Amino acid sequence: MQVHSATFIISNTDVSKCPNTAIPEYAFIGRSNVGKSSLINAICNKKNLAKTSSRPGKTQLINHFLINKNWHLVDLPGFGYARVSKTHKKKFQKFITDYFKQRKQLVSAFLLIDIRHEPQSIDLNFMQWLGENYIPFSIIFTKADKLKPAARERNINNYTRKILENHWEELPPIFITSSLHKTGSEKILIYINSLNKDFTETNPL
Ligand code: GDP
Repeated sequence: MQVHSATFIISNTDVSKCPNTAIPEYAFIGRSNVGKSSLINAICNKKNLAKTSSRPGKTQLINHFLINKNWHLVDLPGFGYARVSKTHKKKFQKFITDYFKQRKQLVSAFLLIDIRHEPQSIDLNFMQWLGENYIPFSIIFTKADKLKPAARERNINNYTRKILENHWEELPPIFITSSLHKTGSEKILIYINSLNKDFTETNPL
């Protein structure tokens, strides 16, 4: 699947104001600076669709983009920004959890993880929370170009081992990407396309 059109629709902090259309959507989330904006731009083949930000945590909004006129890509704020206040963090968590719990059009989430890092509890806890709330998700490892193949494999194995230790019976789908080298996004698009087909079959107009 190729992205031939990608348009910004709306930003907000309130799930009830998200687009009221019955088309499938996919949410991208991860820690600040994980490479989310770069990946969204790479997937959509546009330079500045998602704003890459020099100050992590700056974009605290739910951003909807319409892709190929038939699905939504949702850019969620980066979590784990240490410099925001506790009250702000709570507020932030609430609108994100509301989004995941209330958004019926959400088909799957993509949790982005920087491939260079050891498994982080913030990501593992978030996976746990998604599981407990029956929200399907995949993992996207970002910045693959920053490691040699052996180190990449070692880090992915560390992660999958941790996930299985956390009582998951099977692993979620895993994608490995580099926005710099423009690799990995095609497989994500193929996966989204297959889920879109299932969505249309189970939700006929
Ligand atoms: P966000 O905060 O998650 O949206 O992250 P950004 O997309 O703004 O990226 C954060 C930083 O990582 C920027 O300096 C990017 O240039 C860099 N970056 C993002 N993706 C890649 C990648 O695939 N490879 C490399 N080498 N750098 C990347």
